[in-house]
Amino acid sequence: MTDATPPVLEIRDLHKSYGALEVLKGVSLAAHRGDVVSLIGSSGSGKSTLLRCANLLEDSQQGEVLFEGEPVTWRGIGPNRQPADRRQVIRIRTNLSMVFQQFNLWAHMTILQNVMEAPVSVLGEDRAEVETRARALLDKVGIGDKADAWPAQLSGGQQQRAAIARALAMQPRALLFDEPTSALDPELEQEVVRVIKALAEEGRTMIIVTHDMRLAADVSDHVIFLHQGLIEEEGPPDELFGAPRSERLKQFLSATV
Ligand code: ADP
Ligand code: MG
Repeated sequence: MTDATPPVLEIRDLHKSYGALEVLKGVSLAAHRGDVVSLIGSSGSGKSTLLRCANLLEDSQQGEVLFEGEPVTWRGIGPNRQPADRRQVIRIRTNLSMVFQQFNLWAHMTILQNVMEAPVSVLGEDRAEVETRARALLDKVGIGDKADAWPAQLSGGQQQRAAIARALAMQPRALLFDEPTSALDPELEQEVVRVIKALAEEGRTMIIVTHDMRLAADVSDHVIFLHQGLIEEEGPPDELFGAPRSERLKQFLSATV
């Protein structure tokens, strides 16, 4: 018997424009349960846009987005296309938790409150249960002692680990990372890399946009090199990094080390 479980997230031939600027020109990808997919490519190649279209923070004009095999339903076509089902949007967005480059913690809430906020107010979960889970997650990312601190009192690496705990608190089916280490000093980068590696080892499904080729090589099952809104090359990390075929990828890799 083959495994018929659909991918957690699948994107088929996605097109996205900002006005006259076509940013995604037909991109497809699939992340099965437990897969780590990394997206690499130059600045402006469309990596962030792809993540934002995947969890419906941005509209796209053509192509399909499927969550656990369920296609997003659209209303309108082309530039007028929008998701038709608000509940579906919320279900997908809460199941594909995002971690951003700039952490985006709420400055007026403590770290614990940051982690508890969405499960309580979006999912309507029991506050005491969420608190237990939130504290365990803060322990897991190594900042259990910072529960009552304010975001501004934490280092960048600690803030990003809090943001990862906040994403995990939603118990999502997949995590989407957009350059999670790019805003950090090199010595703080590693504490976030360690957390991401631990998540990969426990079998989390993740899509990671990163400029850190070492991270991509270490954690990924599949790497996608995006160039000007198209997949230029993709494959397992040993092939992509060890034996790149396209000239553009070769150039990109030699410029990033
Ligand atoms: P990457 O994350 O790979 O650096 P982005 O997805 O952020 O690339 O951007 C891809 C292209 O889309 C760039 O040319 C960028 O200027 C453009 N772009 C991104 N966001 C917007 C926006 N909100 N409005 C107009 N253009 C945008
Ligand atoms: Mg980006």
